[in-house]
Amino acid sequence: MTTAEIVNLYNGYVMPTYGRSLAIVRGKGARCWDADGREYLDFGGGVAVNILGHSHPAIVRALKQQAPQLIHCSNLYYTEAQGLLAKKLVELVGADGKCFFGNSGAEANEALYKLARKFGHDEGRFEVLTMEGSFHGRTLAGIAATGQEKVKKGFEPMPAGFKYAPFNNLDAVRAAVGPQTAAILVEPVQGESGIRPATPEFLRGLRQLCDERNLLLMFDEVQCGNGRTGKFFGFQSIAPDVTPDAISMAKGIGGGFPIGAIWTRAARKVKTADGEIPFCDILGPGTHASTFGGTPLACAVALAVIRTVEEKKLMAKAAARGKRLTRGLKALRAKFPCIKEVRGLGLMLGIELDREVKDVVAKCAAAGLLVIPAGTHTFRFVPPLTISNADADAALAIVEKVLGQS
Ligand SMILES: *Cc1c(COP(=O)(O)O)cnc(C)c1O
Repeated sequence: MTTAEIVNLYNGYVMPTYGRSLAIVRGKGARCWDADGREYLDFGGGVAVNILGHSHPAIVRALKQQAPQLIHCSNLYYTEAQGLLAKKLVELVGADGKCFFGNSGAEANEALYKLARKFGHDEGRFEVLTMEGSFHGRTLAGIAATGQEKVKKGFEPMPAGFKYAPFNNLDAVRAAVGPQTAAILVEPVQGESGIRPATPEFLRGLRQLCDERNLLLMFDEVQCGNGRTGKFFGFQSIAPDVTPDAISMAKGIGGGFPIGAIWTRAARKVKTADGEIPFCDILGPGTHASTFGGTPLACAVALAVIRTVEEKKLMAKAAARGKRLTRGLKALRAKFPCIKEVRGLGLMLGIELDREVKDVVAKCAAAGLLVIPAGTHTFRFVPPLTISNADADAALAIVEKVLGQS
């Protein structure tokens, strides 16, 4: 089919929730092709998902090996792949704990809200404090948790139990904690609102505040996790000495295959009617579920993705390529005053302009580079961790060309 024919199908049959552009038919590594045969260097990475690039052999192999064996059997039964993936994620966090599996970032975060509710329940605490400019997904609780008005508009009333404080402002967060607060949820690097890393002092201060006030510290690592910042989790690149009580994951963890997960901490103890139990055990049988959560197929793929990240040393590569891109972008900032700021860590980089980025994003695509807006005035690079120096330089050259025309 041509692009025009595919667009026609969408106009007739797909709900118009996205502003879409190209019709993509094929991908390989950091490149993809549209229905009219045009080639693109993909620095959007399927919105920070394709950490191994398009159709990586390790993912294809895992799908081919697992699919004939067992695709789905429900969570009424044990599977080796889910057990192994949970163990791997616990090891990557570096602190004892347990995991729960779902299918998306919003669903992973839903599990965090339920954990906060259950944790605070007997004391009448239920509020989750999140940050201004945050993004936590598009379910009702997700938009309630998100500290941006635009996602809530038209969907009020919002579910109760969410409060907001300014990001990277510890005093304001401290002041916002009230008698009903049960947890603080934060993205170690804010993604959707413009690629803004938390400061190490902020994350350390939140840990201390949560300990003082008996709150849960929860990190949304859906976008900044998966090795993108140079360590497996974003917080490990910022304040590795901080251990949260819970972490949500999705996006890159399956390298394009849908899977979400949470990790919960064992060392955190919770008082219950039956005495003290580890926090990671507070959701018992019948309290939470997901039909598709952690299928053997999804877990086999995620295990293959993580194994590849480790074997090919892609976290160190992400850090190195990120440095190269940052250096190049800062050189462009010196040349083009329309670039206000270059922010981010590793291969999660934001380029803030003095104007809306829509036009630049479209011009980059026309010039063969896919990038994605993050808010109105910033566009981001969230490419595969596998990109080469040549890919990085090619992306910089296209941005330079486009800004030169603007
Ligand atoms: C994308 C994203 C989500 C939502 O993930 P979905 O898989 O789209 O539900 C949640 N939190 C953050 C930080 C994200 O970037």
